[in-house]
Amino acid sequence: MLDVLVIGGGNAALCAALTAREAGATVLMLEASPRAWRGGNSQHTRNLRCMHDEPQDVLIDAYPEEEFWQDLLKVTGGRTDEALARLVIRASSTVRPWMRRHGVHFQPSLSGALHTARTNAFFMGGGKALVNAYYRSAENLGVQVRYEAPVARIELDGERFVAAWVGEERIAARSCVLASGGFESNREWLREAWGRNERGEYPSDQFLIRGTRFNTGTLLRFMLDAGADSVGDPTQAHMVAIDARAPLYDGGICTRIDCVSLGVVVNRDGQRFYDEGEDFWPKRYAIWGRLVAQQPGQTAWSIIDAKAVGRFMPPVFAGTRAQTLPELARALGLPEPEFVRTLQAYNSACRPGSFDHTRLDDCRTEGLSPVKSHWALPIDKPPFTAYALRPGVTFTYLGLRTDETAAVRFGGRASPNLYVAGEMMAGNVLGQGYTAGVGMSIGTAFGRIAGQRAAWSAQGGGVHAAA
Ligand SMILES: Cc1cc2nc3c(=O)[nH]c(=O)nc-3n(C[C@H](O)[C@H](O)[C@H](O)COP(=O)(O)OP(=O)(O)OC[C@H]3O[C@@H](n4cnc5c(N)ncnc54)[C@H](O)[C@@H]3O)c2cc1C
Repeated sequence: MLDVLVIGGGNAALCAALTAREAGATVLMLEASPRAWRGGNSQHTRNLRCMHDEPQDVLIDAYPEEEFWQDLLKVTGGRTDEALARLVIRASSTVRPWMRRHGVHFQPSLSGALHTARTNAFFMGGGKALVNAYYRSAENLGVQVRYEAPVARIELDGERFVAAWVGEERIAARSCVLASGGFESNREWLREAWGRNERGEYPSDQFLIRGTRFNTGTLLRFMLDAGADSVGDPTQAHMVAIDARAPLYDGGICTRIDCVSLGVVVNRDGQRFYDEGEDFWPKRYAIWGRLVAQQPGQTAWSIIDAKAVGRFMPPVFAGTRAQTLPELARALGLPEPEFVRTLQAYNSACRPGSFDHTRLDDCRTEGLSPVKSHWALPIDKPPFTAYALRPGVTFTYLGLRTDETAAVRFGGRASPNLYVAGEMMAGNVLGQGYTAGVGMSIGTAFGRIAGQRAAWSAQGGGVHAAA
């Protein structure tokens, strides 16, 4: 009989499969997607957040355990399990030599991104190169991989894994790792979680999914229905405001619109609704998906003038341009009088200051609601440019509760041979909020723990572990 069955085909699944194989187990991976789309959301990633006490190859200075922990505590507002979080943080300091052995290469972060140069190790070639390297290494080590193999359900005997079902095929194994992601691509589940608003709209119908279409949460739902302990809130997700023209799935990072803090954002009534200059963009970009989701039609427009051009990473597609503000309103199909009134009110509320986008400068509005706290320059130099924005979901946070062994738990009891890793359990560490690169830190740490434990369990260790 097969030792370890790994369900999923992204970073967490690959880390589990490689580790289980290294521990001597026979391993089969089941990936729902065709080969060309393998790698889930992991194929879209760029970096991993790493603890280190001194400069290390691509990482400058130091990023000690306590600072990493405080960062996590702050973004989650305390919705995190300290023991599991610290386990992830410590693992992030030692994992890169193992990643390199399996073909992953690193590069320093791009110039100008000083704080990520200290905290985040970037993958050469991005997440696509990382998953391709892992697949190559897995195949070389003898891990079997099957594509287009979505698991619909699993068979349990109490808390013990028995087999998985792909269509009518039953696949038995001594142990199993679940690493099949969140439910962000399940439109019905998103509707259920987000509900209907006071305007009668289902906001989630307008959400775009930044990653894979294959993360439909089939097994997450199955496990919750089967009585597995859960963690996290179904309405919590990492959500960014992205180009409204992005594809429904797999737009990846290049669909981000990064000029919000350099201009103003209006809704379809031509009104501003939030402080665009509240804080540095890397600290605020992830709240804008939810802000746009609360607007009528779940759409908004980021408006800049010629002064902003060159100060942000240009989007893939050109924006809508016009020489005057009324012309821009007409081109966007927004109510012209309201739009022009909003822009004029903003322009006349901008107080003179010394503009500096690299610090929280003193260019702010006065007597305007909502205020723009920093980088508030009048929008008065043509041409004017607008980008339509829609909410883009990165991943959902609802998952399965686990412990330091990565075991799935039922009513507080740990399964002796069923483990979980990646997005499917990230909510244990990340109850809300986000800090860049931590998704891959969690998936790598818990993927490796789950793979190790699954191998031990298949080799007889699980009996002792459960005793
Ligand atoms: C655009 C974008 C950029 C990101 N950038 C970063 C970054 O730079 N750093 C970072 O840390 N995080 C980043 N993230 C988050 C990161 O992608 C996730 O935290 C991480 O990839 C999760 O890994 P995973 O293996 O759990 O899930 P995934 O990589 O999504 O893998 C899930 C896998 O399960 C498969 N699957 C689903 N259902 C089934 C089923 N029923 N049967 C079989 N297989 C199934 C899917 O096909 C997929 O292969 C980004 C996400 C996106 C969308």
